[in-house]
Amino acid sequence: ERPAYDEAWFESRATAGLRGLRAYDPGHDLVALRRRFDAQLLELGSNENPYGPSPAACEAVAGQLDALHRYPDPLGADFKRALAATHGVDTTQILLGNGSHELLMQLAQVFAGPGTEVVFSRYGFAAFALATMASGATLRVAEALPRTSTMPLGHDLDAIAAAITPATRLVYLANPNNPTGTWFGRAPLAAFMARVPLDVIVVMDEAYAEMADADADAASALPLLPAHPNLLLTRTFSKAYGLAGLRVGYLIGAPGLVAVMERIRESFNVNGPALAACEAALGDTEHLQWACARNAEQRVALTHALHARGLVVLPSQTNFVLVEFGPRTAAIEAALIERGVVLRPMGGYGLPDWLRITVGTAEDNRRLLAALDAVLA
Ligand code: PMP
Repeated sequence: ERPAYDEAWFESRATAGLRGLRAYDPGHDLVALRRRFDAQLLELGSNENPYGPSPAACEAVAGQLDALHRYPDPLGADFKRALAATHGVDTTQILLGNGSHELLMQLAQVFAGPGTEVVFSRYGFAAFALATMASGATLRVAEALPRTSTMPLGHDLDAIAAAITPATRLVYLANPNNPTGTWFGRAPLAAFMARVPLDVIVVMDEAYAEMADADADAASALPLLPAHPNLLLTRTFSKAYGLAGLRVGYLIGAPGLVAVMERIRESFNVNGPALAACEAALGDTEHLQWACARNAEQRVALTHALHARGLVVLPSQTNFVLVEFGPRTAAIEAALIERGVVLRPMGGYGLPDWLRITVGTAEDNRRLLAALDAVLA
């Protein structure tokens, strides 16, 4: 008899890890919402940068228009050189990805798999579970810090270290973390690395690192790399650089790690306009600092405004805040959608009473608060 060739049939033919796996959930059908609300849609659900990229990045994309019939440089050598100079590392320590999400997935594909374990924190970024499951490895989820701690729902590095077993191949950490916005300092991280077995690879997802306040002790793990070649960082151009649409992320790690990862890299995974734009964006530190300063200012203002409305807001060093709305959360979220305001529901993270709100411009945040006041009244 002819199979149905439906999702269930293809799933039955897929590798074990794919069974029961659900696709990454962006929260809403944004295409439909954009059609419905047009320019009036207030998109605060995806932690995008409302200030956009450096004008130099846009010019660089325009400069690529006569080369669209050519394959890009498969190694992105010029861009890698610029990244290496920026971070004070060697070009052999850098791997480019089609967004950092691609790199997070590939790390599990390369280093995990059936019979192995991957450790991460409850409320850790969603791609960690997705990558682990897709690889066929077993998830070991460490409990998050309690709500009463100074970093509620944040990573508990002690619990994460304790969850490591002889079967552990990878540990995923995010600093600061999405969706909680929480962070940890370099000293606790150094103490954690001292406890991690030398054959376990630690992935430090620093997607929001550029946005942390200088005095917040949420500093990058970059200085720890020379002492810990089993540690690597991932970064992205989607957040502080405002280039989410171009899909560029990168990894910094030991040259040997990069060499192994290169073996499964899709041959031209970062496109030409993206390479040119990101190299230009990297050179415009003024724009980066300006956007991060605006974000930090608005993060404080929005947090105060939400506190003033009696809401619980987790501490954040990112461009979003996680806010508790209680048992009415789903209704509040739906009512905001009707007003063209998109926030991110957190049911997928096991936090159905919370919504994640991207920090917008001053005007965005005024509109958000007005809609919220109407809905909460
Ligand atoms: N890591 C974290 C913590 C994120 O929040 C995101 C984006 N939501 C990513 C990685 C992936 O970003 P990208 O693939 O756009 O680089």
